[in-house]
Amino acid sequence: MRNSDSKIPDQKELERELNEYLGKKYGDRIRLVVPMLFPKAQSEEFSKEEKEGEGKKGKINFDMKPEELEAFLNDYIIRQEEAKEILATKICTHFNRIKFTERSKGKTRYEGVGHIKNNILMIGPTGVGKTYLIKLIAKKIGVPFVKGDATKFSETGYVGGDVEDLVRDLVYEANGDIELAQYGIIYIDEIDKIASSNNLIGPDVSRTGVQRALLKPMEETEVDLKVPHDPISQLEAIEHYRKTGKREKRTINTKNILFIMSGAFNGLEEIVKKRLNREGIGFGAEIRSKDERAEYLKQVKAEDLIAYGFESEFIGRLPVTAVFDRLEVEDLYAILKNPNNPIILGKKKDFKSYGIDIQFEDEALYELAVRAYEEKTGARGLVSAVEKVLLKFEKRLPSTEIKKFVVTKSLVENPERELERLIQNPSDPEILAKFEALLSKEKSELKESILRREDEFRKRYGFSFTEGRIDLIVNRMVEKGYDVNTVCEEVMEVQRQVEEFGREFYRRNGIRLRFDDMAINRIIEMSLNEGVRGEVICSRLLKDYEHGIKLIRDKLGRREFLITQEAIEDPEGYLNRVIRDIYSRQSTQRAQEEG
Ligand code: ADP
Repeated sequence: MRNSDSKIPDQKELERELNEYLGKKYGDRIRLVVPMLFPKAQSEEFSKEEKEGEGKKGKINFDMKPEELEAFLNDYIIRQEEAKEILATKICTHFNRIKFTERSKGKTRYEGVGHIKNNILMIGPTGVGKTYLIKLIAKKIGVPFVKGDATKFSETGYVGGDVEDLVRDLVYEANGDIELAQYGIIYIDEIDKIASSNNLIGPDVSRTGVQRALLKPMEETEVDLKVPHDPISQLEAIEHYRKTGKREKRTINTKNILFIMSGAFNGLEEIVKKRLNREGIGFGAEIRSKDERAEYLKQVKAEDLIAYGFESEFIGRLPVTAVFDRLEVEDLYAILKNPNNPIILGKKKDFKSYGIDIQFEDEALYELAVRAYEEKTGARGLVSAVEKVLLKFEKRLPSTEIKKFVVTKSLVENPERELERLIQNPSDPEILAKFEALLSKEKSELKESILRREDEFRKRYGFSFTEGRIDLIVNRMVEKGYDVNTVCEEVMEVQRQVEEFGREFYRRNGIRLRFDDMAINRIIEMSLNEGVRGEVICSRLLKDYEHGIKLIRDKLGRREFLITQEAIEDPEGYLNRVIRDIYSRQSTQRAQEEG
């Protein structure tokens, strides 16, 4: 706004202005010559920058369908079926809608006019997966995500500035890519704290003020990229102009930024309940689920939120509501058992960084869930419960020889005693046997969970999940503490690199390489273990082959070459055998023809 609207003077004007000023101050003795201000001709550097920007935009996964996104969320989020459904659908539509609108830009005159963005209100207690879910979606779609806290807004007094800061943070999260930032997600927590309520003593005026300040950004506004009146920003702008001859895009438009607000909304259920009673909707006896509160909240309407203390304009900009359930002990246990959950995976990684492997018994996980439940902070309690039990182990074991241990129920109940016992008897065969049994159980459970959803995974990643491939994935998950999607994405990427290598090889040599399953698994394994790209592994493996393969092509007229696991393990032997086979087949053929 401020900066970008005022025109940047051109070279001549600027020189003249500055010289006038200097002239007044020092007379004619000093004149300024400003060669630095000549803009370079549209430099290569800049067009490269632009291209990179396009590349990044291409990474946004706008092609997802709601069910795909929901299935992806199911890998991570326990319970919250309704919230997963609503959020997966509405967020998917939000991004597909942007794509659709951009495609028809300029074709339909009134496109976009009056369009209401699907900003979302999430209602639910702490630690039930609200932030986690949005973060997962943002990662999956490939858009930047920032989180703010509504209580901070009211404190500072300059609300507009806080919201603009969040928008600017999106650019930071997008590594400076403004284009991408304009598709970002802004998550504002504790939004219920800016409801002006009669029951609460507090600065109600300022709360309403916060709501008002959010209205424009939630719909559409331009936000200055640089903090206004910052001299460094001004200098950067001149420098950018000099380099490129173009004025830098200095504002971010919030039209496509998705706003997600969340809060616990204590007491809202009473308002809903009263309304339902008033409307004569008998809602009592049949719904007595464990989470009665959530059942009421799922019936929430705009008028209830207005009664709670929100302005109708504010609620009008949050057309989608998702209610999250409270998590029960069984849910917390399911979270710990979920092989993709970062809590146990993270703990395993902490120990692995000291070269120590841990396994958890189911009974121990259940005991941790029970303890976490008592904290009443949802799944957040799990982190502290796990920390509390394992802290002393994390401190002491790295300076011992112990490389493996098992978290049992009695260890959870009495960590100190079990730690002493472990240190006294570091290679207790019983513990080691238990460890190995749990490790193989972990692997077979992982394998089974992939097999159960083979179809879905095949569709998602476009490769087949053969036995060898699943083993590879499972081993990597256990070895690195990665979740299943992380490993599948890695595998998909290496496979793509190998295929690209194959195409390049064909262009060069006129021979199609066919990799059998075992071979490609071996290549993927090598690539992932060594941390080098698939092509590098392939060209290393085939370095000694190229000559032999050409021989096969020229002398024997072959256009295809099969790479097997043997080909990888013993290239020379394999090549000799293939040549021998072809020769002997040809001579039998000849003999038959002659005879
Ligand atoms: P909040 O609802 O307060 O935003 P978070 O999403 O930050 O809570 O949850 C904290 C952590 O607890 C998450 O990072 C995740 O590991 C775990 N968690 C919470 N809810 C769930 C859930 N429904 N399923 C799986 N993990 C969960």
